[in-house]
Amino acid sequence: MDFPPLREELRGVEPYGAPQLSLEQAPVQLNVNENPYGPSAACAADIAAAVAEAATTLNRYPDREFTALREALASYLGHGVTADQVWAANGSNEVMLQLLQAFGGPRRVALSFAPTYSMYPEYARDTVTEWVVGHRETDFALDLDHAHDLVKERQPSVVLLPSPNNPTGTALPLEAVTALCEAAAGTGQSGVVVVDEAYGEFRRAGTPSALELLPRHRNLVVTRTMSKAFALAGARVGYLAAAPEICDAIRVVRLPYHLSAVTQATALAALRHAPELLGKVDELRAERDRTVDWLRGQGLTVADTDANFALFGTFADRHAVWQGLLDRGVLVRETGPDGWLRVSIGTAQEMQAFQDALTQVMALHREDGR
Ligand code: PMP
Repeated sequence: MDFPPLREELRGVEPYGAPQLSLEQAPVQLNVNENPYGPSAACAADIAAAVAEAATTLNRYPDREFTALREALASYLGHGVTADQVWAANGSNEVMLQLLQAFGGPRRVALSFAPTYSMYPEYARDTVTEWVVGHRETDFALDLDHAHDLVKERQPSVVLLPSPNNPTGTALPLEAVTALCEAAAGTGQSGVVVVDEAYGEFRRAGTPSALELLPRHRNLVVTRTMSKAFALAGARVGYLAAAPEICDAIRVVRLPYHLSAVTQATALAALRHAPELLGKVDELRAERDRTVDWLRGQGLTVADTDANFALFGTFADRHAVWQGLLDRGVLVRETGPDGWLRVSIGTAQEMQAFQDALTQVMALHREDGR
């Protein structure tokens, strides 16, 4: 008899998650695309004061509709987005799971294009939605004809399109979003197209946000997070902007009071400090571009990136390179297609440590190869 009575398709499955090592084990942590800069003392004090105030009412459930937070997020997003077009949850992971709970399910299809974020198939699995995955071009750009044909053929109720994509950093042109919104709307299911902009704030100049397209497509959903550029991964706050009907539909599947009073107070206080928390984005983008140039200068291939990470390679034995970096105190991510590694962009000192460690590891491997 199997115990516990786990669903058949979950048996033997490893829980998702990058290795989480202590700072003693890995002083330079460049593996989960966090912002390396924490809040200032003034910002942390303001968050603490907001949480202290919320603490006096913790005998009561929080505002189930998190009205103040929706208003604050709408005004942060701009683009004419209103509070009834905003929804939030504990990380954009939960937002997207709720989208699949509402719009996926048995006999329905969720679709994306690989290589892409490895949680997407898990949302589909957990909501018993069929998972269909198309391919990308060799430079990881979307093959629009293929994508369009697959949407028409499989009639997905949810299309997941990260922009920039994880783990490649590839941003999507708005024409692709428009074409796929139109293709998905024209199918029997009238599917929704989710543009996951978790890394949207790191876009290179001139790369537009899909928020611009919201007024034109009522089946478009743009998700964002406070975990990356906003330097608030520990608070677990993600959100979306979409037509009010989509936000209303999610209310059917969300658990009651899913956003705690502490989370709402934290997010509201953090939003008051948006300019400071986002203040390092330009520096991180410059550091990213420097890192990409340096990696290319070493003869490596690097995917063009609009995010706060870079996918580089290719290595005959990427695990050995990953381990070699870790042995030198630098933790990167072993992810993406075979032979590639992904490095998050940290401070200038952290990137120097990464470069020094990689130089040593590559020299060792060259010697081994002789
Ligand atoms: N989308 C993408 C593409 C991501 O890489 C991540 C985090 N790694 C998320 C969404 C979810 O982040 P969070 O739940 O912290 O908002």
